[in-house]
Amino acid sequence: MLNQVMEKALNTQINLEFSSAYLYLAMSAYFENEDLAGFASWMKHQAKEETEHAMKLFDYVHSRGGRVVLQAIPQPATDFESPLSVFRQAYDHECMVSRSIHDLYDLAVKEKDHATQVHLHWFIEEQVEEEATAQAIVAKLEMAGKHQGPMFMLDRAMAERGITGH
Ligand code: MG
Repeated sequence: MLNQVMEKALNTQINLEFSSAYLYLAMSAYFENEDLAGFASWMKHQAKEETEHAMKLFDYVHSRGGRVVLQAIPQPATDFESPLSVFRQAYDHECMVSRSIHDLYDLAVKEKDHATQVHLHWFIEEQVEEEATAQAIVAKLEMAGKHQGPMFMLDRAMAERGITGH
C-alpha cells in the first residue's frame, strides 16, 4: 500500500508527464505550420511516449492500492521562435523532468518505499536517454543554422522515427 505522501507525489508526476505530452503536441503543431512534417511527426511520437510514461505511473499507483487524482494540465506555449528554440526548450524541459524524477526517488528513499524506488529506476534511465536525444538534435540544428538544405535533410531524418521502430 502506498503511503499518502508518496501517492500525492506520484500524482504530481503523472500530471507532469501529461503536461509534457501536451507541450510536445504544441510543438508538433508549430512544426506542421512551418511545413516541417518530419519534425511534426517526431514530436507527435514524443507526445505519445509521454502519455505512456503517465500511464505507467497511473497503473503503478493502482497496483499499489493507491488512488489516482487527475489534475488540470496547464496550457503549453503556443508560439515558438524557431526549430532550434523548440528543441532548446524541449531539452530544458527534459532536464526539469529528470530533476522531478530524482526528487521523487529521494522521497521514496526517505519514506522507505522500496517498490517505488525499483519502479523509478526505469524512469531514471529513460531520462538519461531523453536528455541525450534532445541535446543531439539541438547540436544538429545549431549546425544547420538557417540553411534550407540541411534543414530539409534533417526534417527527412526526423520523419524516420516510428518507421524504424522507435
Ligand atoms: Mg516523460
